[in-house]
Amino acid sequence: MEKRELEKLKKALLKLKDELHKILESNEDYSEAEYSTDEIDLATNLIEKMTGFAVSSNFHKNLMDVDEALKRIENNTYGKCLNCDQNIPIKRLQVLPFTKYCIECQREFEKTS
Ligand SMILES: [Zn+2]
Repeated sequence: MEKRELEKLKKALLKLKDELHKILESNEDYSEAEYSTDEIDLATNLIEKMTGFAVSSNFHKNLMDVDEALKRIENNTYGKCLNCDQNIPIKRLQVLPFTKYCIECQREFEKTS
């Protein structure tokens, strides 16, 4: 991979990491909001809290993937599929800079899961 391309992807990953941190921080503030004693409000709050949890656990996962991708850049293993060791096409990395697998392997995993 060209160094210039790698730098671009690294920048994108760092920005993504920053954004995810911001989202996760604001989400934590949100979940600490006080409950209303009103029954209907309580139900609404619970649903919102559950949705918030689902969203934040997903963001946590994304953040981990971003961190791992940054580590792979440091180790010069970035851009290779963790499963089959093939180079992941740059076009795929530009869309999903934190992806670990090539399209073929990703498809296989989605089939089995
Ligand atoms: Zn693969």
